[in-house]
Amino acid sequence: MKKSILLMIITSLIFGVIQGYSQEKATYNKIVDNIFVFNHNGTNYTIVTSDEGLLIIDTGYPGAATFADSTIRADFKLPVKYVVNTHYHYDHVGGNHLFAKNGAPIIAHKNTRKRMLIEWNMPEFQGLKYPVFPPYADEYLPDICFSDSLKIYFGNETIDLIHLPPGHSDCDVIVCFKIENIVVTGDVYLGIGFPPIDFTFDGYLASLSLLISMCDKNTVVISGHGPVTNLDELILFRETLTEGASRIKKLKSEGKTIDEIVAAEPLKGLMERSYVPEVVFIYCILNGPINE
Ligand SMILES: [Zn+2]
Repeated sequence: MKKSILLMIITSLIFGVIQGYSQEKATYNKIVDNIFVFNHNGTNYTIVTSDEGLLIIDTGYPGAATFADSTIRADFKLPVKYVVNTHYHYDHVGGNHLFAKNGAPIIAHKNTRKRMLIEWNMPEFQGLKYPVFPPYADEYLPDICFSDSLKIYFGNETIDLIHLPPGHSDCDVIVCFKIENIVVTGDVYLGIGFPPIDFTFDGYLASLSLLISMCDKNTVVISGHGPVTNLDELILFRETLTEGASRIKKLKSEGKTIDEIVAAEPLKGLMERSYVPEVVFIYCILNGPINE
């Protein structure tokens, strides 16, 4: 792909304009009576309802958040009471300031806040250049932070936020609904294609394996970006990532250059499509942490 086209796609994705989303009517995937998934511009927003109002898990891209916030408020006709971030990446916190504008606290791992206070700047690789994100303004920042786990009592729900080991980032939390056997994974399970990895691939696998160990065959899995799925898909995802990484490492051990490895398309055919360009995963395997 030409560099300029690739850059255009990345920029468009980041600012939430590429997918031509409908401004008229949103569709929600109803998981149980009070838990819904809204996939908008590629990111999943999980919406939990109660008599108290709404709890929103993840707030999407900066450019998509105005539509998501106003649509969810209009459709559910309830105030937002809590906002939860699964991690600090810009496609999960971009609407924090909107969803929390009436005073709802934003809840996240302590490193989410720490990361949002510093500039995000991914190194350029194979013509792929992400915009630089400056530190976030106060209105975006988590208000309540924790280290290992946190319980939220919301309506009849007991919601467990559990921090996983560093891999995709150092602040990933999964959100567990024990009674309904539902887990919201953030990007520990991306759901579509190969993930970006802030830390190490081994770390990513370790956090994914821990997530898998917490699921059973009836668990409903809500990913960061893909369709609602299950344990079998999590296990398949782990196998596919492992195969992809071993192909990349094999080419490297044969003495291939980075250009040759990218040109060999080692991930071709492994996933139907990739939400994040596959060169990002290749970069992570070859060069290690991108934002440690
Ligand atoms: Zn992410």
